[in-house]
Formats: sequence, structure tokens, C-alpha cells
Amino acid sequence: MVSEQYRAMLGGKSVIRILSEFATKRGEEIGYDNVFDYSLGNPSVPVPEEFTECMIEMLKNSDPCSLHGYSPSLGIPSVRAAIAASLNERFGMNYGPEHIFMASGAAGALAHAYRAVTKPGDEILTFAPYFPEYNPYVNLTGAVLKVVPPDTESFQINFDAFEEMLGEKVMAVLINSPNNPSGIVYSEETILRLADILRKKEQEYGHDIFIISDEPYREIVFAGVKAPYVSRYYANTISCYSYSKSLSLPGERIGYVAVNPACPDAEVIVNMCGQISRGIGHNCPPSIIQLAVAKVLDKTADLSVYETNMNLLYDCLTGLGFTCVKPGGTFYIFPKALEEDAKIFCEKALKYDLILVPGDTFGCPGYFRMAYCIETEKVERSLAALRKFVAAEYG
Ligand code: PLP
Repeated sequence: MVSEQYRAMLGGKSVIRILSEFATKRGEEIGYDNVFDYSLGNPSVPVPEEFTECMIEMLKNSDPCSLHGYSPSLGIPSVRAAIAASLNERFGMNYGPEHIFMASGAAGALAHAYRAVTKPGDEILTFAPYFPEYNPYVNLTGAVLKVVPPDTESFQINFDAFEEMLGEKVMAVLINSPNNPSGIVYSEETILRLADILRKKEQEYGHDIFIISDEPYREIVFAGVKAPYVSRYYANTISCYSYSKSLSLPGERIGYVAVNPACPDAEVIVNMCGQISRGIGHNCPPSIIQLAVAKVLDKTADLSVYETNMNLLYDCLTGLGFTCVKPGGTFYIFPKALEEDAKIFCEKALKYDLILVPGDTFGCPGYFRMAYCIETEKVERSLAALRKFVAAEYG
């Protein structure tokens, strides 16, 4: 007998992946250049050259047995130290290597964080709109993911709903800013208020409530927007970082967990991560990739294209009458659909070869996501298709 639990998941495949596969198929018919594929958050700008050069240099000159050998279970010590130093310099923290655990991307980092602070039956709260993979990520730990409904005016936190849902079983609050799918960056005011509420509830319930801060888009922030470093505001913060988007390295599966040194259990949590890895098999991320990212810690891919694309889309969409909160970062925008059912709206858009993702999948029906990590030239061409779509279907 195969596992019923995983067999059941076959019926609930990722809507984003299904749309992305559809776009690829459509591309085979009409040429992928003519498909305005806004489905998948796959970076469209190359990794910095320094990363590639560093990889070549290591492949040519380093001892292959150590270069391709197992990493220590918590990560390579020099890499952990370099990450701690870089975070301290950038965000005024005081991490040591003992607060850093190397993981396979944000997904890997989150898989450890959930398990470190919850047991089966505990609750984790997150906020709509949210990254849909949080469902399988959390469900398979035995903890229960509960979703706080959105504040669609701003896509900051809906505090009334949050406080109502913040019961005694909640052991962690999972946030993601800059946010996929809204593109919104939580303001300092939002984070201060969140931290304040959690500290009070920790006192009231007599147990820790952790913030798990999912930060793969931390570096993708647009002009005039400040993205506060969440851990500065709350001691029990576990930051989950990934180089997938900032360095355009999603295929290399590299990131880390950073536990705030002010968290009383910080070092224990990091050491526990090494044990969690043994169970879930997300262990020992590739040594060569750890060493290479450590050489480019303060670099990013050329992320400016995302802001260019955002401005093009934002201006066009608002000009067409869409309601849309302006993104402060990421490569996503999340406008309100022009009819109540965003699934129908997105289905109609397919006729114009516009691949849009309905907000239902992000816990926010009536909206849709566009992932504009595509060439600017294609974004420009897509605007005509958008205008045609809106005029024909909603004119
Ligand atoms: N969290 C969010 C909000 C994401 O958007 C993604 C990927 O798109 C992930 C986590 C997973 O990132 P990674 O590729 O680093 O595992």
C-alpha cells in the first residue's frame, strides 16, 4: 500500500505550477515569446558574475574531496561566521556563527523552524494573502496552519482578526515581508504592533510565541521603501532566508535559519535544527554552494529590472481601472480582479495569452497575482494584451 496521505495530495497540485505548465505548452504552439507568462516566481536576471567566477575558481583549484564532501550538519563554520558578520553589519544585530544554520533555501529553513518550535496539534498563524506552499510545509509537520483574513485596503496585518485568532495553542506566527503575492512590505508600525501583541500574549499564556520570518525577498525593495529587519523588534524571532531570489539561485537550494541571539533558546534551536535535518533529509546543503555564496554575501543580482517592470504594470493596471496596492518590493503585484470570481477572470485572460494566478490560491479570493520576473520588453508587449482583454471582456 502506498501512503494515503501523499496520494491525497496528488489531487491538490500547485495551481501556480499547473498554470506554468500550461504556459509552456501554449508556448510550444505559438512560440513562448507570445505567451505573457506571469505565473511563476522564477528570477529572470542572472546571478552576479562574481558568483560564477568563484565557482570556476574553486572547481579548478580546490581539493575536490573537500569541495564536494559533506558539509557539517549545521553548515560550514566559516560560512556561518561570514553570514553572522554580514547581518550584524547591515542590521545592527549581534549574531555569532552559533546562531546560524545553513539550509536548502527558504523552504528548507522553514521546515526546520516549524519543527523546532511546534509539536503536532499546535497552531501556526499566517496572514492572507500568503504563499500557498505554507499549507504542505506546515501540514506535514502535524502542526495546524491557520490563516488570518486579509486587510485588503493595505495588505498590512488585519489586527482585529489576528487578535481574535491568537489563542493559547498558537506557538508561532509566520510572516512574509516583502510579501508574496501582494508585494507589500510591512511597515515599522506593523511590526512594532505585532511584537507588542505577542509579548503580551506570551505573558498571558505563559509560553513562547515565535515569529518565523520568511524573508526570501528581503533584498528586493523599491525606491523610497524601508523594509525593517523583523528580528530587531522581537527576541523570539527565527529568520528564514534564501538566496533564491536575491542572487537568482533558486536551483542551487541555499539559505539559512538565523535565530535572534536575544532569544533565550537561540543556540539550542540551532543545534536542534541539525537533529531535525536527520529526520527530514533536508540535510547538509552543498558545500560548494555554501562557500560560493559566502564570497558574495553583500551582492545581489541586478534587481532593478523588477522595479521597472512593477512601474510599467502598476501604471497600466491603475490606468485601466484596476484597484491595486502599489508593491514596495518583490516581483509580484496583486490587483483586484474585474469580476467577483478571480478564477473566471483569470480563465478569460488565457484567451489573450495572459497567464495570471487567481488569488484564491493565496487565501484571498477576488484578486490575482502577476509574477513580473520576465523581460521588460515582454512586459511592455503584454500591456497591449491587457488593454485588449479588459476592453473586450469588461469594456
Ligand atoms: N517563501 C516564499 C514567500 C516564497 O515565495 C518562496 C518561493 O517562491 C519560498 C518561501 C521558497 O523559497 P526557496 O526557493 O528559497 O525554497
